[in-house]
Amino acid sequence: MNELINEKRAEALAGSRSLSHNQENAFGISGGNSYNSTYHKAFQEIDYQYKSQCDHDEAVIASSLLVNTYEYNFRNSTEKRFDLLYGIQKLYGMSKFQVRNCMSFMPKKGDPVQVDLVKKHDGRLAMNNLKYCSSVWLCPVCSSRIAAERRKELAQAVESSDAYTVLITYTLQHDRSDKLEDLLKALRRAVNKVKSGRWYEAYLQEHEIIASASSLEFTHGSHGWHPHYHQLLFLRKKPDPDRIHEQLSERFTHFLMKDGQYASSFHGIDVRSSRKDVSGYISKWNVIDELINVQAKKGRSESMNVWQLAQLAVSGDPEASRLWLEYAKASYRKKALQWSRGARELLGIGQEETDEEIAQEDPMDEGELICSFTMREFHFLRDYGFIGEIFFLARIGGAKAINEFMLRVRGAPLELLIPSHNCT
Ligand SMILES: [Zn+2]
Repeated sequence: MNELINEKRAEALAGSRSLSHNQENAFGISGGNSYNSTYHKAFQEIDYQYKSQCDHDEAVIASSLLVNTYEYNFRNSTEKRFDLLYGIQKLYGMSKFQVRNCMSFMPKKGDPVQVDLVKKHDGRLAMNNLKYCSSVWLCPVCSSRIAAERRKELAQAVESSDAYTVLITYTLQHDRSDKLEDLLKALRRAVNKVKSGRWYEAYLQEHEIIASASSLEFTHGSHGWHPHYHQLLFLRKKPDPDRIHEQLSERFTHFLMKDGQYASSFHGIDVRSSRKDVSGYISKWNVIDELINVQAKKGRSESMNVWQLAQLAVSGDPEASRLWLEYAKASYRKKALQWSRGARELLGIGQEETDEEIAQEDPMDEGELICSFTMREFHFLRDYGFIGEIFFLARIGGAKAINEFMLRVRGAPLELLIPSHNCT
């Protein structure tokens, strides 16, 4: 059924005719709001505004019309990530952060000045000649790639070593009046104090802890910001979770209280040692797609992950926008995942690739060319938030659908040659 829908959509998008009633039904459209009229209206407005160089904000509103069509429901996770990135880049305060420049045009010296849309060898669609921001906290596109690599390493470390594993979570009490920056500072300070000195050395020895990986996570709910800190321990001997809980709780709550913060001796530290808990933590580590696909309509009273918050902010919620900026500032330059010294070698996962290295496209994997964009075409697509749209069109209709799209929105087909095998 999905294939049929995609086929018909490709046909409709690539062709210039309107959808018939039956075809509309095939897409599951209900109500009198015709897909094509909304779509065309948005295109015309964007085209008009682009040509007349009107106020940029108005053009943004026009392009958001497009995303608001039901067509958005047909997007896959990758395409939704590009849409969300565009929305985030336009949020208040983002000009100070790298995410604002994600997917900047950066041709290599000597290469033609163009952006190539390609199918990589792993089947993934990608754009070459771009610079990615590698922001694990703010960019849904880069974060997804970085997190996938980090999850692989975590899983490999657990599988390849014969060590036991324990997952610890540190949290502190908070309410809506607490600033995220203050909570994070207090949490990090208390954790760092727990992990220092002779006491900690003795604790590592007692439990035969040989390595650890620490990570930060943020959520926001009815009690305000909820930063938490996870630590995955690798032990030589069978763990004693109750003893670990008792030891860490006492020390952690002590340091928090000295800092004017509080965590209950029971809830401040959570210790899990079952294989299910550990593998659940790893398999969900920063999985954006799941997080994005949860609709952000629940409202702010319930707990939200940061990508739900971003969606709410992008949809125009001013409070979510403010919270997103607060989060951007507080997470700035913080590492999302940190291995203890010597852990990677010990666990057999080798040298660590930086976030920057992971986020960039591999220049050696040129992939199969779908079509190319001139600098002017690419800037048009990027400035008006059409990158997700282009990936969507490439998936369902290849270069031909993209060409038709360009014809509609810019009034001119692609300037560069389309490979003949895509021109069916
Ligand atoms: Zn990015």
